[in-house]
Amino acid sequence: MNQPTLFIDRDGTLVLEPPTDKQLDALDKLELEPLVIPALRDLQAAGFRLVMVSNQDGLGTPSFQLESFEAPQRMMLDIFASQGVTFDAVYICPHFPEDGCDCRKPRVGLVLDELRERRFDPQRSYVIGDRETDLELAANMGTEGILYRRGGADGGLDWPAIAARLLDRERTAEVRRTTRETDVTIRVNLDRSGPGRIQTGVGFFDHMLDQIATHGGFALDVAVTGDLHIDEHHTLEDTALALGQALREALGDKRGIGRFGHDRSQEPPTAPEQETSHFVLPMDEVRAECALDLSGRPYLVFSAEFTREKVGELDTSLVEHFFQSLAQTLGATLHLSVTHSGNAHHQVESLFKVFGRALRQCIRREGHQLPSSKGVL
Ligand SMILES: [Mg+2]
Ligand SMILES: [Zn+2]
Repeated sequence: MNQPTLFIDRDGTLVLEPPTDKQLDALDKLELEPLVIPALRDLQAAGFRLVMVSNQDGLGTPSFQLESFEAPQRMMLDIFASQGVTFDAVYICPHFPEDGCDCRKPRVGLVLDELRERRFDPQRSYVIGDRETDLELAANMGTEGILYRRGGADGGLDWPAIAARLLDRERTAEVRRTTRETDVTIRVNLDRSGPGRIQTGVGFFDHMLDQIATHGGFALDVAVTGDLHIDEHHTLEDTALALGQALREALGDKRGIGRFGHDRSQEPPTAPEQETSHFVLPMDEVRAECALDLSGRPYLVFSAEFTREKVGELDTSLVEHFFQSLAQTLGATLHLSVTHSGNAHHQVESLFKVFGRALRQCIRREGHQLPSSKGVL
């Protein structure tokens, strides 16, 4: 139930599509696509279930006899199985386009039971294929499509690139926190950067959260409806708690057991995040300093004397409480200080900026590249 699943096209994706007649009807026409086996082995080991989904025009008619289909199909499955790659299901539409059937891709007839019985998790499942119709099938199934191309041509991905992408996913999290006082939804993606949508109802606070995201170098969306008619206390506190939790969950994807249960602890660290960082940031007449340790041990040391009680609509006494709450759910030891004189707006803003800078060092992945910058993903 609800398993991460790869719905994989056959011809042109798992095996070469015979260039002249497009019909794999003889053993000597069978040719596997490059490095498909190691990629599928890794993906399977990471918890993906494999399902084949193929259109075979006119299968079982005189133009494409069942027997001539079966020999190469069986050979292919035997080769995969001998190398540890097993398909949980094989779905084939045998119709011609003009038959107008419900099962020809991109229609969803072949995977109707998969959909009805929720056998796959749409958030963690993909359709992989070499045609537009495969990508359309993905859209029709409410999941993501990946265009396969041998050698990564034409904006597609080859098998090593597909495996790299799916095994090294972007670090994202979404947290929703609903209390009697507030309703907070936060989305973070540590491997992308803004601009995000930040709406808390407190303009200056939006601006401060934007500083964390901008200087932290990550994408942040925040939506809060709160009891602002009372004061902004709950809005700040609950947003901070949710933000800390979201950051921690997103980082958790990368550490230890990955999101598909793939244990990476035995592998060399390809992307070292720093646990700790230290940053100093001058802003005109004020100077802020942040030391951060994502240790799992929440602790705040805070030193500030704001020269005004309010900046915009924001009560400056709540700034410490914001970072206290954030440190708590982020599991961070956080030391923050700012010079005790100067413009209050600068004092507050420099604290949010310097925290963003320090956080950036802790969440940065060295050498991380999105496997495709070509826009198909
Ligand atoms: Mg194909
Ligand atoms: Zn069909």
